[in-house]
Amino acid sequence: MVDRYWIGLLLLVSSLAGISDGSAGDADPFYRACFGECQRTGCVGELCFSHCNWSEGISSGGSWYMQEPLYIRWKLLGCIGECRYHCMVDREKARQEHGHGPVKYHGKWPFKRVLGIQEPVSVAFSALNLAMHFHGWLSFFILLYYKLPLKQDKKAYYQYASLWHIYALVSMNSWLWSSVFHSRDIELTEKLDYSSAVVLLGYSLILAILRCFNVRDEAARVMVAAPLLAFVTTHILFINFYKLDYGWNMKVCVVMAVVQLLLWAIWAGVTGHPSRWKLWIVVVAGGLAMLLEIYDFPPYKGLLDAHALWHATTVPLTFIWWSFIRDDAKFCTSNLVKKSK
Ligand SMILES: [Zn+2]
Repeated sequence: MVDRYWIGLLLLVSSLAGISDGSAGDADPFYRACFGECQRTGCVGELCFSHCNWSEGISSGGSWYMQEPLYIRWKLLGCIGECRYHCMVDREKARQEHGHGPVKYHGKWPFKRVLGIQEPVSVAFSALNLAMHFHGWLSFFILLYYKLPLKQDKKAYYQYASLWHIYALVSMNSWLWSSVFHSRDIELTEKLDYSSAVVLLGYSLILAILRCFNVRDEAARVMVAAPLLAFVTTHILFINFYKLDYGWNMKVCVVMAVVQLLLWAIWAGVTGHPSRWKLWIVVVAGGLAMLLEIYDFPPYKGLLDAHALWHATTVPLTFIWWSFIRDDAKFCTSNLVKKSK
């Protein structure tokens, strides 16, 4: 039954992923005209931007850094960003006056900037997720090395400890880039966010396989991890240096996510793990939260959209998840200590 639900969800996601590309907002002729005008003059209506003011930087006599290609590129990026944002705000105001709802621009809903941050709510929740992972990792560390019995060589009994340490680092890295990307959406931050999310999903899939199939032998672990690592590396090279194909990337991410959620859920049921209910909460709620990514609604008051809400749901789930990891460490340790006596 659960299987069928997931396969259905997977099909739904993959079919919708194809449709959600392309945006109506940036195809609008009024928006295009505004953007073209802004690129030429550096102004949208009364508003003018210093980023689009070329005369001071490029003319002779400016500081050395003002002559640098990197600086000029940075200014150009800033100018494009300002023009896009203010033309969008103008267009949306006009659309609202005519009773039209918001549309997407360059793949994104029209958000209100707060203190120069593009999507402040998503940034806040990303930072909160990062903090939750740090808290979870810290409590896991304290449990492992200060509360549970240690082997004679001062190492933990729990055989998956190092895998979870890496998991914590990979997760925190991913949420860091998520908050950077939602603060400022440029090509670089977008690629960093997407790449680190793929790394996290790929790594956690490897971890799920190793834990669920009780792979403890080093050689066997490498055998399992190698093909997946090769695939993840290829995919990251593809989206960074060949083409950032959103539809394809979404499919890759959803498949990796669904496979690991299914693995955990089935494993917990089959093995009768004492904390299986925690796993099931994370799997069911995590699966439902994924629907938010599919039923993508425009931001409420220009701030809270489906994506931000999705980042919000993973905050409590991360807490339960690390609580499960701690339980697993306790469970395995007590079994191993019993065996060694
Ligand atoms: Zn995000």
